[in-house]
Amino acid sequence: MQFTRLRLNGFKSFVDPTDLVIQAGLTGVVGPNGCGKSNLLEALRWVMGENRPTAMRGAGMEDVIFAGTDQRPARHFAEVTLQLDNRERVAPAAFNDADTLDIVRRITRDAGSAYKINGKEARARDVQMLFADASTGAHSPALVRQGQISELINAKPKARRRILEEAAGISGLYQRRHEAELRLRATETNLERISDVIDQLA
Ligand code: ATP
Repeated sequence: MQFTRLRLNGFKSFVDPTDLVIQAGLTGVVGPNGCGKSNLLEALRWVMGENRPTAMRGAGMEDVIFAGTDQRPARHFAEVTLQLDNRERVAPAAFNDADTLDIVRRITRDAGSAYKINGKEARARDVQMLFADASTGAHSPALVRQGQISELINAKPKARRRILEEAAGISGLYQRRHEAELRLRATETNLERISDVIDQLA
């Protein structure tokens, strides 16, 4: 899955609309301390459905919205768009009719996050699954945070296994299995209720 563009608007230090073209091959981001290099990686993780504020170095998810400076007022929303090359048709069926995919996540103060895939409203789960099935996503081992290498070395075997499963692209299957198990349990409960009703009628 090739990322071709990253657009940021009001996301952390990127208060003005910023459009980054990601070309095939290796991309390096260089700049002085505090210029926003890690914020770019966080924007990628965020648009792919990251839902832990701590992974965004914040206390709440709204902390990703530009907080203002002495010269500029705070913004009310933040938006990140990730454009993907979809010529290999990696998207879920409902969104899979275009050669490029625009995944948009927008957060508005007091109104939470909303997602769109090519202009159509989508759920966080749709976006997370799309990336999980393509062996990438907010928790992808391809995105390495500062300090993550030492975390990995000290990780327990279970946590290391999760990383291998992400890399193998099977974490989406686990999510689906979990959802199927929940549905199964709900059905079993309904069946028990029905058999109680039948017993009462008999
Ligand atoms: P280093 O090389 O030191 O790791 P970096 O280039 O990775 O730095 P970042 O950590 O991405 O830099 O950016 C930090 C900057 O982003 C800080 O100046 C911080 O004030 C700013 N910043 C973070 N969140 C917000 C926000 N919500 N609103 C405005 N600015 C923010």
